Amino acid sequence: MTGWIERENPARLGEIAGRVPETPETEVDAVVRAADAAQRAWAATPLPERLAALDRVADLLGTEEQAVLLARETGKPVGDCRGELRFSAAYLRWVVERAPAAYADAEVDDEAGRLLLSRRPYGVVAAITPWNAPIILAMLKLGPALAAGNTVVVKPSPLAPLTISAVAGLFPDGLVRVVHGGAATGAALVGHPLVRKIAFTGGEAAGRAIGAAAGAMITPVVMELGGNDAAVLLDDADLSEPAMERLVLASFASAGQVCMAAKRLYVPARREREFREAYTAAAARILVLGDPLDPRTTVGPVISAEAAERVLALRGDGTAVELGTVACDPARGHFVRPVLLLGAADDAPAVREEQFGPIVPLLTYDDEESVLARANDGELGLGASVWSADEERAFAFARRFEAGFTFVNTHNRTGMALRAPFGGVKRSGFGREYGVEGLAEYVQTCVVHAPAAFRAGGGGLAPGAYPV
Ligand code: NAD
Repeated sequence: MTGWIERENPARLGEIAGRVPETPETEVDAVVRAADAAQRAWAATPLPERLAALDRVADLLGTEEQAVLLARETGKPVGDCRGELRFSAAYLRWVVERAPAAYADAEVDDEAGRLLLSRRPYGVVAAITPWNAPIILAMLKLGPALAAGNTVVVKPSPLAPLTISAVAGLFPDGLVRVVHGGAATGAALVGHPLVRKIAFTGGEAAGRAIGAAAGAMITPVVMELGGNDAAVLLDDADLSEPAMERLVLASFASAGQVCMAAKRLYVPARREREFREAYTAAAARILVLGDPLDPRTTVGPVISAEAAERVLALRGDGTAVELGTVACDPARGHFVRPVLLLGAADDAPAVREEQFGPIVPLLTYDDEESVLARANDGELGLGASVWSADEERAFAFARRFEAGFTFVNTHNRTGMALRAPFGGVKRSGFGREYGVEGLAEYVQTCVVHAPAAFRAGGGGLAPGAYPV
């Protein structure tokens, strides 16, 4: 018998935001087979028609109903949910614009012969996604995968299954199927022999399990994993109100549950006091803990009771300075007051681990070499930021950061939108979503070659002509 996954609104305990049928592991096979059966006809559909379908979905994304549902299942402020949906539509339109060049065949015919390189879809793509930005992180996979002629089976997180299910229904019939469940459903999907490519975004433990399953099947996999991003303020950093507000939001937007949130702040010891005053004042101006549907709210609850407990435990022995204001009854949901953590040691869990919640440690340093070494010390290397009044100096410092993406005087993607890929180094994964690199993940290059020597009845092979 099919069970249901019920999603409780994390801001209003007891209120069910919606429910979806759980997909038993035994049903995953039929879903993948159906996706496989639909794939060849989709791949044979001319590219302009495939892209027109994506354009139509972009037009349908961003309704108020979708934004409210997203807010109710994730706890993210509704304004941020609108932003996620808008960005998802913009991303699909960008895929429509870029796909013709990215997926075009290349042919040469010269003295060496005739060579055709074609970019072909894999077949069925399995997309495994987390809960923190469930629509954009699915679209980053669905857009290029479908444009290239693949079909997709999505397994969203059971913590945010509702809006993605609604949005999947906007695509033409049969191209996007959604299976619901946790690790067991995901494992049945990634281990299926008809899945030809796996695209995963999430944490390290699931990443290891999925990597092992992909290895066992020899299925190519791309992974976007977690981060523990350092924000380093050089000694000439601007502590103005707008700069501090950017830095505060970099840590506390989505209650800190962002892969590339600024998760460790490094400030010169001699400017610590000045920084603390400017930072807490900025937080007082812009951080409002409250219900995601209240327009004043900038920080909602965390995703679950376990997340709240884990984040509170990270305070350890440090001094937690409470930030911002509270505009709700915190007992109504999984609300955790944003804090700046003072006095944490370099080996404290709040510094070493990805906190994924509304707490950020403030660490001080005396010289640039040592702060660079401390910022780079760790297994994760997703994003980073460096703050300085001197852009050249910031870029020179940034070149030595072990991070896939280093921001200068900010710590989010504003302004660069789709100009560059985003992904990690070290154990933050090896995906490069957003940019044209992200489009290349969903095609395999196949070659047809007629060597000139054998055209029109050319001769036999010389000795040594088969080096491999
Ligand atoms: P998670 O790893 O717990 O879950 C991610 C997805 O994997 C979920 O759908 C889950 O059900 C599934 N899953 C878990 N075990 C599996 C298994 N054995 N086989 C198949 N599927 C399995 O992550 P989460 O808690 O949902 O998300 C938070 C993490 O995601 C954080 O570490 C965050 O930094 C990371 N993240 C990274 C990016 C990025 O672009 N690099 C973006 C967003 C989130």
